[in-house]
Parts: sequence; C-alpha cells; structure tokens
Amino acid sequence: IHILSIESSCDDTGAAVLENNKVLSNVIAGQKIHEAYGGVVPELASRAHQQNIVPVVDQALKTAGIEKEQLQAIAFTKGPGLMGSLLVGTSFAKSLSIALNIPLIPVNHMQAHVLAHFIAEETQSPPPFPFLCMTISGGHTQILKVSAYDTFEILGETIDDAVGEAFDKTAKLLGLPYPGGPLIDKYAKKGKPEAFSFSEPKTPRPLDFSFSGFKTSILYFLQKEQKKDPSFIENNLNDICASVQRSIVTILMNKLKKAAEISGIRHIAIAGGVSANSEIRSTLKSMESQLGWTTYIPKFEYTTDNAAMIGIVGYLKYLDKDFGAENTVATSRLDINS
Ligand code: ATP
Ligand code: FE
Repeated sequence: IHILSIESSCDDTGAAVLENNKVLSNVIAGQKIHEAYGGVVPELASRAHQQNIVPVVDQALKTAGIEKEQLQAIAFTKGPGLMGSLLVGTSFAKSLSIALNIPLIPVNHMQAHVLAHFIAEETQSPPPFPFLCMTISGGHTQILKVSAYDTFEILGETIDDAVGEAFDKTAKLLGLPYPGGPLIDKYAKKGKPEAFSFSEPKTPRPLDFSFSGFKTSILYFLQKEQKKDPSFIENNLNDICASVQRSIVTILMNKLKKAAEISGIRHIAIAGGVSANSEIRSTLKSMESQLGWTTYIPKFEYTTDNAAMIGIVGYLKYLDKDFGAENTVATSRLDINS
C-alpha cells in the first residue's frame, strides 16, 4: 500500500510517502518568517502553506520514486491546529483524492505524534499495548494511557501552558528567536544545571501540569538579577538555560514516575516536539536501568511536526477501512480520541 500524507496544522508544511508502515520520503518546509515575530503568525502561516504545498508534495513523490497514480490513499491532518493552516492541507488532500479517485483519510495530529512510534524502524520495535505516552509539544502536555491505536486515556495534562510554550517563552525572555526550545537545549549543554533553581509548580490533581506560574517565576528571577547586574543574561546564558531545562525535565519526569506507579505500566514513550530535547531523551533512557522501564524515544525527525507520523496513522486506518467522507471538515480543536 502506498499512502501520501499531508501535514499543515501549524507553521511547517509536510508531505510524506509511506509503503505500508515504512517511510519512503518525509519532506518538511519550515517557515523562517515567524522568527522575527517571536511566535507563529497564523495569517502568514496559511499563506506560506499555499506557496509550499505543491512543491513539497512533488518532492515527497519524487524522493519516494512513486507516481501519483500508484497511490492508494491520501491522509491529511484534520486538526487540532490553526484553522487557516489546516484548510490548505485539507482542501489539497480532498482535491487530490477526488482527482485520483482514492480514499481520503482524516488524521488527528495528536494521535499522530503518539503513533509515530509505529513507523517501522530497524533500531526499535513499537511499544506493546497498553503503554504510557507523555506527549510534550508546542500546544500540548499530556500523559496518556494508550490501550489501542484508537483508544487513549488522558491520565494528566497541563491546566495552563504547554511545556513547549515554557521553553519558547523562556527563550523569548532571554532574547532568543522563535522557536527557542532547541536553542535552550543547545546552550544548556555548556551550562551548570545547579546554578539556579526554580520551584516545581503545584497542581490540584497529581498527574496534571502547570507551566504558567513557572514562566512567571523565571521572569521575576531575571528582573531581580538584572537590577543588580544589567548584563546578567549575557553573562549567564548557558547556566540559565541549563538550570531552566533541568527544572523542566525534573517536573516532567516526576509526573511520569507517578503515572507509571499509579498505572503499573512500565512501557513508557515520549512524543511531540519537546521530545527532541537531548536531556529529556537521556534522562528517560536512564530510567531503564533505574526503574526497569522499557522506554520508547522517537527518531529525531518524528518528534517535531512531520508528515510521516500522519502517514502511519493513515496506514493503520486504511487497514480498518476507516475512511473520511468528502464533506470532512478541518477542526481547530480536536479531542485525542476523535
Ligand atoms: P501541537 O503538536 O501541540 O499542536 P506543535 O505542533 O506546534 O504543537 P511540535 O512541532 O510538536 O508542536 O513541537 C514544537 C515545540 O517543540 C516548540 O515549542 C519547540 O520549541 C519545541 N522543541 C523542539 N525541539 C526542542 C528541543 N530540543 N528542546 C526543547 N524544546 C524543543
Ligand atoms: Fe505538533
């Protein structure tokens, strides 16, 4: 089976071709334009998708060595995401499926982040059901119990900001461009994580997260230090990044340990853009020997937004003949089980 998949939920335009559960190509066009604005500007994002979508799809087919006529289905991101961005991918996918007379498969972007673990890889086998997945991304922070490809239970989630926002907003306070998460990761490597400490936010329910207060405490900390030393940030950038990152990793791992304890599940995965973070990856890995977990860490290119993860869900749904109707619509908000 050959499936073409399209991802356009936020600021990256992606297209991939899968042969069953194997990725033949995975093309992504990022959008530099948002760097200067310190965040994604929805209007500019949808315009860039319009420009990128045809060349990105062409490139994905070319790299895969597949002609459009060989495709058996088109999968696309139906939501959640920015409406203007989703509409570009949705309309394109619908038109192509009608033109080629093949099924259309709507995919939930958050399920796709998780199910990226089912892409065939030589180095790692997929997690067995049930497993826990901590989805950490630009818009979500959830601990899920995954019992089947289509059965997700939210054990805990953020009550305010997502962890990706905590990274990106901290980076902004430090004068770094958007998205700042990868830059914090980079500078943290050269800093001392014990240099500064930030307290762990409390939440009413034990497996929930809260990052808005965390961000504010960093703001106050920086303001206080800059009063004493106006060059505080420049002089301590690596240490600040290392300390903030260590605090975030500690918060995430404490919740995940609690979830493993409560659920009794020892197969533990991470997913989403923030799972690209090097310290999160190494800390999770170390839990194998420390706590006897089997961990599942996505290949780097399947962490942040990409079309291959949309394609694997497309393939799984294709096997179930779970196709979308021609009047399927994009939705900016979408529950993990829809
Ligand atoms: P969602 O999937 O919730 O709709 P999104 O699609 O915008 O949100 P992703 O592409 O999954 O989010 O992830 C983007 C986020 O990942 C950004 O906040 C970015 O800063 C963060 N990120 C990427 N790489 C790293 C890294 N190495 N360390 C920390 N954060 C990172
Ligand atoms: Fe995403």
